[in-house]
Amino acid sequence: MKYVIIGNSVAGINAATAIRQNDTQGEILIISDEQTRPYSRPLLPNWVIGEVSFSEERMFYRRNDFFDKNNIQTLLGQTVEKVDTKQKTVILSNKENINYDKLIIASGANAIIPKNITGIDLDGVYTLTNIKGAKKLKEDLVKINSIVIVGAGLIGTKMAYDLSKIGKKVVLVELAKRVLFPALDDYAAVLIQEQLKLSGVDIILNDSVVELDGDKTVSQVTLSSGKKILCDACLLSVGVAPNVAFVDQNIKLDRGIVVDDYLKACDDCYAAGDVASIYDIVVNVRRPIPILPLAAREGYVAGLNASGHEVKFGGGFAMNSIEIGNVGFISMGLIESDTDEVLEYKKDDKYRKFIIRDNKLIGVILVNNVEKAGMFNWMIEKKFDVSWIKDTFLNNDFGWKYFDKAFRVLRLDRKLQR
Ligand SMILES: Cc1cc2nc3c(=O)[nH]c(=O)nc-3n(C[C@H](O)[C@H](O)[C@H](O)COP(=O)(O)OP(=O)(O)OC[C@H]3O[C@@H](n4cnc5c(N)ncnc54)[C@H](O)[C@@H]3O)c2cc1C
Repeated sequence: MKYVIIGNSVAGINAATAIRQNDTQGEILIISDEQTRPYSRPLLPNWVIGEVSFSEERMFYRRNDFFDKNNIQTLLGQTVEKVDTKQKTVILSNKENINYDKLIIASGANAIIPKNITGIDLDGVYTLTNIKGAKKLKEDLVKINSIVIVGAGLIGTKMAYDLSKIGKKVVLVELAKRVLFPALDDYAAVLIQEQLKLSGVDIILNDSVVELDGDKTVSQVTLSSGKKILCDACLLSVGVAPNVAFVDQNIKLDRGIVVDDYLKACDDCYAAGDVASIYDIVVNVRRPIPILPLAAREGYVAGLNASGHEVKFGGGFAMNSIEIGNVGFISMGLIESDTDEVLEYKKDDKYRKFIIRDNKLIGVILVNNVEKAGMFNWMIEKKFDVSWIKDTFLNNDFGWKYFDKAFRVLRLDRKLQR
């Protein structure tokens, strides 16, 4: 059996791990257009400002000997140009054809380049979704004093804070009314905005970049409001789009690659990670959810299924976390609702919010009190009936002990009903 995996990152290596656990003899080939060992994208901002180096093991997902030990072949620095799922062939940009018995597409997502911004091709415009983009920014940092960051999502917000920490003048421009719009509600976003401002970041909300000007290198940014900002550089962080340019017509696309409950895209072909359009169990739609823990799980399940198992992937939901100055948060699932039960505790920079529908937890925001996040994540995932314990969610000492008590009450109640 020959397994070919496109993408040597979180989803790809988890797929390879699962295959090898199942099939000790099969041939596994991972193809990647990157040259490096699978590295941590979440640590790229820290790498850019010199907080972590590529000589540290925490930059990587697997030890150096992972591939040899597991008899996994790699073809690095090669781009897949086309996949022919009828002929079961992968065609590389050097026109080499590689046959497969089972294919796993784990090609991830890349930065969206907003083509409606004029001057986008000027020098001094950066993205930060892979090592290539990060390296360019890191190398040029010495000549950058002021930078405009377009988009206050997770990457833009983190980078704004990190760059201001090392003394750069940062302007963060966001189209929405708050930073981290899909991840936080107004109260929590203001806490993050305050930390950004304290560190010197200038935040412009409800506005967008329409034009970049400069002689070869960007030197001025114009916003839709007409405001002009002088700068030496511009970082684009308006989101990511799945890497799907190479798929054929047997693979259906809906934002990402459409997969069934077993992560199958078409016969003998699976998709996993940021490239896949999976079932969001909170909002009940299929869509890519580009986060690391899901990429790992999807990769593993796709690997199991490609190598003979039939494991259902239960779907996922959005989860975000970040630490800016003195404020750390985790949010999961839905973050705002006018129609569901909402429990809230607010005191200065401490904030907890729970959204409950039909006695199931469907959304959580935890600010500066994130220790119990794992429990809440579990409750959302398992669609756990929280009617017994939801009243204790806002208690400062909420933890498993409340759970035990709730289970005991539940068991007693069931006994009495018999
Ligand atoms: C700066 C940054 C910060 C992040 N922070 C967080 C965080 O805090 N928490 C979190 O959960 N997630 C975070 N993420 C997202 C997380 O890194 C991704 O969800 C995860 O990397 C997805 O893994 P993947 O294997 O699906 O795809 P990727 O990691 O994108 O890997 C896909 C691989 O496939 C390769 N490839 C693509 N097309 C081809 C082709 N045609 N031929 C050959 N190879 C190809 C790519 O070059 C890449 O190596 C962050 C991402 C970035 C960029």
